[in-house]
Amino acid sequence: MTVITRFAPSPTGSLHLGGARTALFNWLYAKNQGGKFLLRIEDTDLLRSKNEHKEQICDSLRWLNLNWDGDIVYQSKNVSEHVKIANLLLDKGLAYKCYCSVEDLKKEKEAALKKKIPYQYSGKCRNIKEPLSDKFVLRIKVPDTGLLKLEDRIQGSVTVDYNNLEDFIILRSDNTPTYMLAVVVDDYAMNISDIIRGDDHLTNTFKQIIIYNALEWKVPKFSHIPLIYGPDGSKLSKRHGAQSVLDYKKERFMPEALNNYLLRLGWGHKDKEFFSVDEAIKLFNIEGIGKSPSKFDKIKLESVNTYYFKKLNSEQVLNILSPKHKQNDSKKTTCFN
Ligand code: GLU
Repeated sequence: MTVITRFAPSPTGSLHLGGARTALFNWLYAKNQGGKFLLRIEDTDLLRSKNEHKEQICDSLRWLNLNWDGDIVYQSKNVSEHVKIANLLLDKGLAYKCYCSVEDLKKEKEAALKKKIPYQYSGKCRNIKEPLSDKFVLRIKVPDTGLLKLEDRIQGSVTVDYNNLEDFIILRSDNTPTYMLAVVVDDYAMNISDIIRGDDHLTNTFKQIIIYNALEWKVPKFSHIPLIYGPDGSKLSKRHGAQSVLDYKKERFMPEALNNYLLRLGWGHKDKEFFSVDEAIKLFNIEGIGKSPSKFDKIKLESVNTYYFKKLNSEQVLNILSPKHKQNDSKKTTCFN
């Protein structure tokens, strides 16, 4: 089976190191397997999605030489398909209309808080036969009992009890799909064989598998990469010296250096430090991705950059330092739909 991976950023901000590493791993794995690497812009959140972020993400990927195959897929263009699938699940009795108001849900949450138990939707609209109003959301019916097992290629075998998953929303009351549904419908439509992404998506994955199973669609292989943290173990941020990919470009970092640094941040091959693109493609594998979180180290990144800088000839150095290089920074390309 052809390996097809994807990078699926939401254009609600710039591309940072974590996202760039996810893109790199997906790109390398596709290349290693002789497969395809696709780009899907998840722009269904119309309020927070911005064209400038789409541009920035595409420019960052191009600068890193992580070129995608085929055309960019814009999730917002597939909304009618998402809605169709939500209604198919409703027709099959695998999803239901939930008429609970914000107030109803607030009451449920307060009751759970009083009992000191984690809140999850009670499922009280599951068996309503006659429509109560034309304002409703669609919720998927999570199986009542049993265990859901995920064989993650990095995390190993992870199991969750269906009892601990609520009937989650797949279609909002304004007829827009939730991320949980849209991502499954699009991954299926794009024939994605392998989903490689941050382990902050692990709980989403269980919900997504429930949708795959309900539709009797083949579940792709999942690999959840441990996140990158700052040296103090807290969430990676600017104060650790981490910035957007294009900020590194402005600071004259070399894309080869950033890729090499990100590759080694969470993946290893013996104790080899430096990899040409061809070597990285040849050697990259999921087995080499570690299970523990990585720590960002700006000094290390700078030393990798120095290594690559020293390999340049004088003409290449002049080119990087010339004002022309700077002009390229502001060069506009169109990537938004
Ligand atoms: N759009 C999601 C994000 O930017 C990623 C979705 C996915 O990889 O499944 O976090």
